[in-house]
Amino acid sequence: MTTLQDCQALDAQDTLRPLRERFVLPEGVIYLDGNSLGASPRAAAARAAEIVQQEWGQGLIRSWNSAGWIELPRRLGDQFAPWIGAGPGEVVFTDTTSINLYKVLTAAARIVREDAPGRRKLISEHSNFPTDLYIAQSVCQEYGLELVLLEPQEIAGALRDDVAICMLTHVNYRTGAMHDMAAVTAAAHAQGIVCVWDLCHSAGAVPVDLHGAGADFAVGCSYKYLNGGPGAPAFVWAHPRLIDRFWQPLAGWFGHAEPFRFVPDYHPAQGIQRYLCGTQPMVSMGVLQCGLDVYTEAAQFGGMAALRAKSLALTDLFIRLVEETCQGHGLGLATPRAHARRGSQVCLTRDDGAYAIVQALIARGVIGDFRKGDGGAGPHKDILRFGFTPLYTGFEDVWHAVRHLREVLESGEWRSPVFHQINAVT
Ligand SMILES: *Cc1c(COP(=O)(O)O)cnc(C)c1O
Repeated sequence: MTTLQDCQALDAQDTLRPLRERFVLPEGVIYLDGNSLGASPRAAAARAAEIVQQEWGQGLIRSWNSAGWIELPRRLGDQFAPWIGAGPGEVVFTDTTSINLYKVLTAAARIVREDAPGRRKLISEHSNFPTDLYIAQSVCQEYGLELVLLEPQEIAGALRDDVAICMLTHVNYRTGAMHDMAAVTAAAHAQGIVCVWDLCHSAGAVPVDLHGAGADFAVGCSYKYLNGGPGAPAFVWAHPRLIDRFWQPLAGWFGHAEPFRFVPDYHPAQGIQRYLCGTQPMVSMGVLQCGLDVYTEAAQFGGMAALRAKSLALTDLFIRLVEETCQGHGLGLATPRAHARRGSQVCLTRDDGAYAIVQALIARGVIGDFRKGDGGAGPHKDILRFGFTPLYTGFEDVWHAVRHLREVLESGEWRSPVFHQINAVT
């Protein structure tokens, strides 16, 4: 049996512990939802004030040059690139994941139209994040492709020469299951398939090596593990061999080779710059840097290897404590036990009451979230989801979170009607 003292001892030995001080973590809250909205870096409030009061207030339009606003999407891209195995000049922070996915899927569709026009299928996962599937549907309509949705175990067998594009989210938002990016990409490339990876639940959370995997395109968001703030700009990466092959479809002036020449014809910039579209939100972009700066600091604390080791220790501990202390309450485990297949979250299933149990936990200050299943008996059940951010989640947090879960289940307090009201955002 793992005790509270054991968990406190693990925190005391944790070499990443100083990084927790970089974040605002409200008193009385155990935050296990950093995979949905990361915590606020302490530096963020002062940075926001500096941008608003100094850069905007005093600098006014001069700040596009003097405060380096114009460079920020690329500068932040360069700062973060090593964490996803990308090179300098290959990543920009801009727009949202949905919008960036539209750009890269369209670029992929244009490449296929030229290189392999007979291919008609865009394959993805049935339980991919819905916005990815909605954007894919839109691109399929425009390019006459067919969206084929598969279960994870069907993907390997579906990578054949009738497939144009394989679009996968590296770590599944519902289950926390992680694909082997290198293996899937190699199998896809052997069949001439273009690979698009969504890194929303992996960037900053698990090791990602886009060049090592030979991926074609990637997108991801910055408000989850990167702690960039609500609605912070997402990122986009294209392999250098593909970046310049096509215009991306949202050919706005910030992607132009010379935006301030104001010429009527579009000439795309070389490199990832062309994946910009219009003017970016500089308050949000500036605050995002505070989140990325913590990663830059984390490089001195062992970097991704240390973060990954702690993340796995946290999720292992959570699974073990749930299994030791919450038996008999109908909980199942949707997240793979195998480390190589697990992201940085643990997802539990329950046939009924999952939403209300999460609400009852939130009322106790343990913030996770609920993700709706398809209501059937199939593989897509309702999910109680708990995200573990190794930058700031502690082992004692895990112990108390599971204690609260056990108390909520044993007391039956989740049955109270107040926990059954469905909020607009779950
Ligand atoms: C969080 C998430 C998104 C969010 O997209 P936005 O455009 O930022 O709203 C998209 N895809 C996946 C897989 C996600 O996890």
